[in-house]
Amino acid sequence: MRTPFPTGRAWIELDRAALRHNAAYLRSLLPPGCRLMPAVKANAYGHGAALIARELSRLGVEAFCVATAEEGAELRAGGAAGEILVLGYTHPACLPLLEEYRLTQTVVDCAYARELERYGRPLEVQIKLDTGMHRLGERCEHLRELESIFAIGNLRVTGAYTHLCAGETDAPAGRDFTLAQDRAFRDAVERLRSRGCAIPKVHILASDGLLRYPELGGGWARVGIALYGTLGSRADLERHGKCLRPVLSLKARIASVKEVFQGEGAGYALRFRAKRDTRLAVAAIGYGDGLPGALGCGAGSALVGGVRVPIAGRVCMDQVLLDVTDVPRVSPGDTAVFIGRDGGEEIAAVDLAEQAGTITNEILSRLGPRLERILAG
Ligand SMILES: *Cc1c(COP(=O)(O)O)cnc(C)c1O
Repeated sequence: MRTPFPTGRAWIELDRAALRHNAAYLRSLLPPGCRLMPAVKANAYGHGAALIARELSRLGVEAFCVATAEEGAELRAGGAAGEILVLGYTHPACLPLLEEYRLTQTVVDCAYARELERYGRPLEVQIKLDTGMHRLGERCEHLRELESIFAIGNLRVTGAYTHLCAGETDAPAGRDFTLAQDRAFRDAVERLRSRGCAIPKVHILASDGLLRYPELGGGWARVGIALYGTLGSRADLERHGKCLRPVLSLKARIASVKEVFQGEGAGYALRFRAKRDTRLAVAAIGYGDGLPGALGCGAGSALVGGVRVPIAGRVCMDQVLLDVTDVPRVSPGDTAVFIGRDGGEEIAAVDLAEQAGTITNEILSRLGPRLERILAG
């Protein structure tokens, strides 16, 4: 990998080869007739939607899904040519964005279909069916209401989809629930089609679904987290993500190095207390960049000079203290790695997720706009 020379205080390096590898691997799992529709919502899970979408387009990816119309508009303005599916709610006042940027809106339920009807202008839509998650989607049993969507003159339905919510459990109950969701979805689609409703494409799989239940098929696989080379939890990653390669590294510049004496405190509320004469490095990244505050006071670590060092005291908004006493040489301008490799050591996004008591998706998608993003390799 070519070493980039970022100018910023804190930055993200994206490994192009890893992204290509993941795309190729996930494509190899696709059931017949199914294509990748990468999820690039929340700035491509923090990776940088423009960079990721451009690279995936080069690999022949032609469709994307996003959470909001604004995300879709940005993607289109950035040059994405194919279908862009907005998975979430778009306020009626923002519907012109859908037209202007040729976005496909999800019909989140039948009441929303009426809002889209009131808009009166032509819109492309996909209908979301609720098969048990009870988040977005019209309940799949409501066939008459669903059928009425197809009669709305200004809507052109290009597909229908549902979302699995027990996809990440390997327990029999999770499997049963997933298969029941699939049956309910297929059944509703079949009944609608038999009543003359045209549904060109149907889809059901996200990352967990594609890795565990590729046989469920569909026209698109709405893959997010796996494409970025990780999965929500360590158990998931160990069971189903062995072939994935992490795309993102998170790094920051060391701004200053100083000695504190045994017994002295450091940081807000003096939450770090030196048990010995200590060397502290100030790294220029904080919770304002998405580094979780829960990593403070030794819960999390960074890699400096190939050595794993604890986070000392509280994470600040723009900075964090590292106890680098055990690192032979540290100077301002050196790099601290918060996610990624350094020497023989590695910190994975899933490590941060565990330390912060959340899932990898949340750690990544919170990485903020101040971070410079560089695609390398
Ligand atoms: C976010 C999202 C996806 C992608 O999920 P991953 O688990 O990251 O692959 C797919 N479908 C819907 C409806 C989503 O909200």
